[in-house]
Amino acid sequence: METVKIRRELLGYLLELAREFYPNEFAGFLREKAGVFEEVLIAPDPHFGRSSAFFNTWMLPYDESIKGTVHSHPGPNPWPSQADLNFFSKFGGVHLIIAYPFTEDSVRAYKSDGSRLKVEILD
Ligand SMILES: [Zn+2]
Repeated sequence: METVKIRRELLGYLLELAREFYPNEFAGFLREKAGVFEEVLIAPDPHFGRSSAFFNTWMLPYDESIKGTVHSHPGPNPWPSQADLNFFSKFGGVHLIIAYPFTEDSVRAYKSDGSRLKVEILD
């Protein structure tokens, strides 16, 4: 399995955001530096809600360091929904889903075709 690298500090922050937004979803874009995800930009006007496809292409910021997305699932299911998969395939890159209860173990990473990536956490 290919891996995606993420800073522990960022992952901790994402878990915090997921808990804060619960029972709603949160969504953001991930910024990469030298092959490691380091920063999140919270989606500016997401339609938070359980089944909404909140990432619309019109809201994608123009920023070449944005190489992925993250969103939370308020339930324990960490698998991408059909709407998620449609979005992933348009956006490309890497996509994190953080499922309830929002711990390091409930984080999954996917490629734009929906296949799994291993998450490597860097200090
Ligand atoms: Zn989803």
